[in-house]
Amino acid sequence: MRSPAPAIVWFRRDLRLSDHPALAAAARAGDGRVLALFVVDDHLLAPAGPTRAAYLAATVRELDRAMGGRLVLRVGDPATVVPALAREVGAASVWASEDFGPQGRRRDERVAAALAAQGCELRSVGSPYVVPPGTVRGPQGSPYRVFTPFYRVWDEIALGHPVDVPDVEWVGAEGSSSDEIVARAARRRPAVFGDLPDGPAPLPPAGEAAARAALATALTRAHDYEARRDLLGEEGTSRLSAHLRFGTLHPRSVLAALGPGSGPRALRRQLAWREFYADVLVHHPESVGRNLQSALDGLEVDRDEAARERFRSWARGETGVPLVDAAMRQLLEEGWMHNRARMVSASFLVKHLHLDWRWGARWFAWRLVDFDLASNQHGWQWVAGTGTDAAPFHRIFSPVRQAERFDPQGAFIRRHVRELANLGAPECWDPGAGGYRRPLVDLDVERREALARFATARGRRP
Ligand SMILES: Cc1cc2nc3c(=O)[nH]c(=O)nc-3n(C[C@H](O)[C@H](O)[C@H](O)COP(=O)(O)OP(=O)(O)OC[C@H]3O[C@@H](n4cnc5c(N)ncnc54)[C@H](O)[C@@H]3O)c2cc1C
Repeated sequence: MRSPAPAIVWFRRDLRLSDHPALAAAARAGDGRVLALFVVDDHLLAPAGPTRAAYLAATVRELDRAMGGRLVLRVGDPATVVPALAREVGAASVWASEDFGPQGRRRDERVAAALAAQGCELRSVGSPYVVPPGTVRGPQGSPYRVFTPFYRVWDEIALGHPVDVPDVEWVGAEGSSSDEIVARAARRRPAVFGDLPDGPAPLPPAGEAAARAALATALTRAHDYEARRDLLGEEGTSRLSAHLRFGTLHPRSVLAALGPGSGPRALRRQLAWREFYADVLVHHPESVGRNLQSALDGLEVDRDEAARERFRSWARGETGVPLVDAAMRQLLEEGWMHNRARMVSASFLVKHLHLDWRWGARWFAWRLVDFDLASNQHGWQWVAGTGTDAAPFHRIFSPVRQAERFDPQGAFIRRHVRELANLGAPECWDPGAGGYRRPLVDLDVERREALARFATARGRRP
């Protein structure tokens, strides 16, 4: 008897086997015969720096291993590659988790049209979110632009019901090697990066088993999350971001595993920020590169060669401001940065160096393993005062005061700025501490300059 036609499951930001609705649906459609596909797409890979590319490759290898080496890797434009493979194996349907990013949505429309032309269907089931972006609406049916009311609605409907792993017979086909991922990434290096270092950071453990282990560790400290999440020198946060970004862990599984108490609740609330920003991006795809709130479109930013040099000093962690340098060096060394450090270093770029938030967002996008378009662009816009919940522009983080509050022993600064390894708090908080480096700017002077530019942009006298 002829075997039934297989269904294709196309893996994208969901590189796991458990709790995978699209895989479960493909298994049903193909009577258990499933071809697992990953497409190496130049378009999506080009802006990734070497560390994220290497991490993605490692994650794909783990997925392949978990299915006994049956993952089929193809290189090229998905609108060509996916239909070609469907023809090759006689698949009647292709299943994928829905992508809500602007590029991903356009790509999926093209793939669906190309498949339809040959009588095959692209079916979206599930997404990288607990509540699909675009679902949460206000009383008048309009989307939210402020987090707290969004969260109230989200919190009512965000449930964690993991999906069972199906029994699958993997169908094979010719494929390329995961080395293609690294070879084809990092091709769109912005000119403003100049000679900034490109060496990859050491990779954190990749793959679904590593994600499960990371979740188990995060759960052991979740009770303390609220109290410790802002303390830079401690392992107080979950460190789940890279797994959530590549879908080796679904946020639904995190919610399902969280117990009661204020710590787990605070972690649940942070996960909702990720969903909120994805929701905002669905309604405002242009906010990837443009201010969500146009009131500050006229804010004067510096772009000359001196500004570019200041940008590169910031990115290298050589501003002479200890907390900012520690943050930026953590990014270079780990491909990850603590949330509080992201806020402080981003604020410094915008409000003390007077640079365009998009420059900073690009460097983060290049270096972060957990880079997520919605969270990164909107995290930056939040800091720049142009996004949702806009932190007022005139509230300017002092990197010294932030160090005092969130790095009280100076442990974070000492760990990453080795020139200051022998200096304790409070000495190590100060710009130019211990004479290790002359500060790039005077914090007070530039703070006043930022306020003056802000007043001008708003049409007021400074
Ligand atoms: C300027 C800036 C840029 C950022 N860029 C990214 C990015 O590219 N990718 C990314 O995942 N996060 C980004 N964030 C949000 C946040 O800093 C990281 O999610 C967090 O530091 C990841 O570490 P964790 O997993 O230990 O976080 P935890 O504190 O343990 O939080 C758990 C999870 O909740 C989500 N989360 C927490 N805080 C936020 C937040 N403020 N916004 C959105 N989601 C959040 C993340 O998925 C995170 O993994 C950015 C924040 C700022 C201020």
